[in-house]
Amino acid sequence: MQVTCPVCKKKTTWEENPWRPFCSERCKLIDLGKWASEEYKVPGEEAEEKEEKEKKETDN
Ligand SMILES: [Zn+2]
Repeated sequence: MQVTCPVCKKKTTWEENPWRPFCSERCKLIDLGKWASEEYKVPGEEAEEKEEKEKKETDN
């Protein structure tokens, strides 16, 4: 079975894939990082939210 990595949209396999549904450990960590920092929001708002957050962090 083939699945599309939710992070980089590359095709990867489901079977024998320790990082499924991601294509690699890197993409898995990216996705986990998004959840951890609450950046995983509605697509389209994502970029804006991120800039906002980075600004706040700089102010601190
Ligand atoms: Zn990927």
